[in-house]
Amino acid sequence: MAPAPRAQAAALVDGMIDHLQHLKESGQKSVRLDPDVLGQLAKPIAGQVIPGERAAVPPQTAERRAPPPSAKLPGKPAASAAHASGTALGAIAERIAVCTACGLCQTRTRTVPGQGATRPDILFVGEGPGADEDAQGLAFVGRAGQLLTKMIKAMGYEREDVWIGNIVKCRPPNNRAPSLEEMAACLPYLKEQIGLLQPRVMVCMGATAVKGLFETATPISKIRGTWLSFEGIDTMPTFHPAYLLRNPSAKRVVWQDLKAVLEKLGKPVPQG
Ligand code: SF4
Repeated sequence: MAPAPRAQAAALVDGMIDHLQHLKESGQKSVRLDPDVLGQLAKPIAGQVIPGERAAVPPQTAERRAPPPSAKLPGKPAASAAHASGTALGAIAERIAVCTACGLCQTRTRTVPGQGATRPDILFVGEGPGADEDAQGLAFVGRAGQLLTKMIKAMGYEREDVWIGNIVKCRPPNNRAPSLEEMAACLPYLKEQIGLLQPRVMVCMGATAVKGLFETATPISKIRGTWLSFEGIDTMPTFHPAYLLRNPSAKRVVWQDLKAVLEKLGKPVPQG
């Protein structure tokens, strides 16, 4: 590896970490590295980044998010459908990372492309990232995300078994709902992701997400629990976990919706 300025090396390391983290979240269990590459990585870098200095790099610049060299690592495992899908999902995430198609790019810290299994039974989709997601670059990791994790486990799955994402990939300021224009600008990414993931069923969480996907004015309270079709995939609209945190009594109907999802998948449906 040629000597690089410290900031450039930090950006390179950040990019590699982000990309590897995305691969992990996409369900990939390993990345094979060529011995020569490992040897290069083991060498000290001129102006080497030292722990604690990463914060000096602007967190969301195009330079930082440029496709890292790890995207082209030699000696990758033989292509399988899931692997190819994971790679294509990574490529989408890299495009999202430098996207400026709507105004949300101006206030985001990190983009949140979504994460999970590359061939999931279920794809959960919400409206957009919140503060925790914006900070970590991962979907549904705040309080609402913790509740979603419990819901997924109650269904007999782990988070890693499903795919979790949002319609908009950048956090709307002050947690406001994304506008219809912002959702329309971002929706092509989700459609591409759905095309690769090919989930058997989708769960659309919250009034805004239902509006963004189905362009309907029907209130979520009326439409939830009713099967819809998005991109040819059976989709169950239900309340958003954040709504459930404010209205715990609504958990009962959401559980009914999730049980309908299990039934649709031919999975065991818990009693109660
Ligand atoms: S929300 Fe979507 S369309 Fe808007 S800047 Fe972010 S990635 Fe691009």
